[in-house]
Amino acid sequence: MSAPFLLEKYRALLESASVRETPLLLRVPRAHREIELQARWFNGDFGREFIGADGRKIEIAQSGVWNHEAGPDFIEAAVRVGGGSVRRGAIELDTDARDWDRHGHSTNPAYDGVVLHVFFTAPRGEYFTRTSRNEFVPQVRLPQEALDGDSPVGLAPARPGRCCGPLRELPSGEIAALLEGAARHRLMLKAARLERLARVHGPSEALFQSVAIALGYKENKLPFQLLAQRLPLARLRRDPDHCAALLFGVAGFLHAPDLGKYPPGSRALLRRLWDDWWPLRDEMARMMLPADAWKWRGLRPVNHPQRRLGALAVLASGWPAFQGLLKRGSAAEVKAFLTGLGDEFWSAHYTLDTPLGGQGRVALIGETRAVEILANVFYPWRSGEIDQWWDAYAKTRSPLGNRKAATAAERLFGGHSDKKKFLSLVAYQQGLLQIYEDFCLRDDSDCARCPFPEQLPRWIGG
Ligand code: SF4
Repeated sequence: MSAPFLLEKYRALLESASVRETPLLLRVPRAHREIELQARWFNGDFGREFIGADGRKIEIAQSGVWNHEAGPDFIEAAVRVGGGSVRRGAIELDTDARDWDRHGHSTNPAYDGVVLHVFFTAPRGEYFTRTSRNEFVPQVRLPQEALDGDSPVGLAPARPGRCCGPLRELPSGEIAALLEGAARHRLMLKAARLERLARVHGPSEALFQSVAIALGYKENKLPFQLLAQRLPLARLRRDPDHCAALLFGVAGFLHAPDLGKYPPGSRALLRRLWDDWWPLRDEMARMMLPADAWKWRGLRPVNHPQRRLGALAVLASGWPAFQGLLKRGSAAEVKAFLTGLGDEFWSAHYTLDTPLGGQGRVALIGETRAVEILANVFYPWRSGEIDQWWDAYAKTRSPLGNRKAATAAERLFGGHSDKKKFLSLVAYQQGLLQIYEDFCLRDDSDCARCPFPEQLPRWIGG
């Protein structure tokens, strides 16, 4: 079976199962923090064209930049309303339309330059957004589904599902082909996301953000994404000597130093970071992440976000060489570059104030993280050359278990004798995750109405 055909075949399977790209099972109430919605808006996740609350077409010509000062969320944006001329100004994004008044924006002149108010919920009847000059601001209400995004909840329990039986009937070559088709589909979805990001922010920023998110995997993807948005590569590259201070400062990890309370091995770095950061602190204060943006529970010390941030700082300061490899190098070269990165401090510390102790030295970016960056950044970026690298990719072993893929394997294959094999290769894991997202996470019937088992005979016949 030819390889590109597997992609088409998996897509046809999804289509005939009437599986939509947007998740179906996402009606579970979920607290969406405004900061997450802003990050997604900034990345164009909700689209660039809308129908405004008054029925006029709204086009986002420029999504703007994060505002460092008091005032609206995004400044220097450009919006075309009703096909007229482009209006330049700010964009304010709220979860609820009434936040505009609740937060005093209607009487605050700092919001007079807002050209678009975006929100997700609004009271019944009409609700107008007005500035302190009594001017109406065009509104866009995003549909509730937009809140659901790509963070599915409603996780299925890890017990074998109804498809285990039909899958057991498939010859192992067909199962491998199915997983490959799903993995190819997943890769093309990632490639499309990266391309969309590159259209909005340019290729370098798109790659930088994607690498940052991969470093934040999995508990701290959002704060890493926010950092890369608020401190774009262009800003960091303007001041390469201050990359680390900017990143650690905006991350909220630098506090007025009482160096005496830190271990001797941390004091020199903290002193330097603080000295570089304090002159920038006022300028960047509004960009700083709140402490609760970070998740600490259940993290292995070696995956501490401060260590990962150290890696991002090292990558940012030598970015041109790394980007050159992402664009023209091989996967093996990119991996060798990442796992070979060194840093005097971070090779010997878990956090800014915790030395490794008896652990010796630990790679700044380990094998698992490097493979994650390959899977989420390098391969999607180079999807146009997929036929050149697929065979090598298909043989890439997963250095560590992936809990979500294991859950997917348990659901789909139960006690299947090849289950271990499916989990040992990165490409198979990706295929498992895609089927899990396309079917299990959209099923709300405990498998009873899931179309996947009935589609399987067609896979062989297709
Ligand atoms: S929801 Fe569908 S794909 Fe998932 S385990 Fe059940 S039958 Fe299989």
